[in-house]
Amino acid sequence: MRVTVVGCAGTFPSATSPASSYLVEADDDAGRTWHVLLDLGNGALGPLQQYCDPAELDLVGLSHLHPDHVADVSGLFVYLKYHPSGQAGPIEIIGPFGTASRLGEAYGLEPGQDMTPQFNVSVWQPGRPVRIGPLELFPTAVEHPVPAYAVRVIGPSEADPARQVTFVYSGDSDACDALDQAARNADVLLCEASFLEGRDDDVRGIHLTGRRAGETATRAGVRMLVLTHIPAWNDPADALAEARTVYGGPLGLASPGLVIPL
Ligand SMILES: [Zn+2]
Ligand SMILES: [Zn+2]
Repeated sequence: MRVTVVGCAGTFPSATSPASSYLVEADDDAGRTWHVLLDLGNGALGPLQQYCDPAELDLVGLSHLHPDHVADVSGLFVYLKYHPSGQAGPIEIIGPFGTASRLGEAYGLEPGQDMTPQFNVSVWQPGRPVRIGPLELFPTAVEHPVPAYAVRVIGPSEADPARQVTFVYSGDSDACDALDQAARNADVLLCEASFLEGRDDDVRGIHLTGRRAGETATRAGVRMLVLTHIPAWNDPADALAEARTVYGGPLGLASPGLVIPL
């Protein structure tokens, strides 16, 4: 399994990165590569095309329905619907309750229209894994002002396909037991760190700080922590420094194009 950071800017695109989007890929025993995209925020459909043909996505998993995580699904729909081959899609889309209607409203569907056959839209069922090729996705509801999920992905190791490895994406969340559980013993936790200690202490239930991301990783026994979803008005070095005070393992920052082999 390998994860490519397509976009990692928090809350809105930055001058140098689209908003959240992460491409998770793994090869099966027959050599077919499976492509799972976690989130497709503002601007991410552009650089996604550097890494795979969007029509070849097997599944798009949406952590929640804020625009910095789903805005470019409208563009993906256009890409499939009007593709010159005439045969693009369907792509499986999974998100919180209400995903199909929200995506339709964002695109501007007329009454009586829907997004089939380009998309098959379904809803995360906590406790029910989603199997796609050699990958298994486990959604966990986490703490954010709207229904939101962390996603735990288990799949074959790049170096030793006989071994299973675990990648966890926090989505957007404040610290909570559910996120600790989702991240338990992960090989890599890709964790949001939108807020700053001292500046945002009065705002709870929305986002993590670098420190709270680091504490989550320590409590969960995570082997490597990668911070993401840092808004353009923050200095990423601050998030990194906060996390470093409470997490002793390998620690990094997401950046567009970063590939994380697991
Ligand atoms: Zn966000
Ligand atoms: Zn959000």
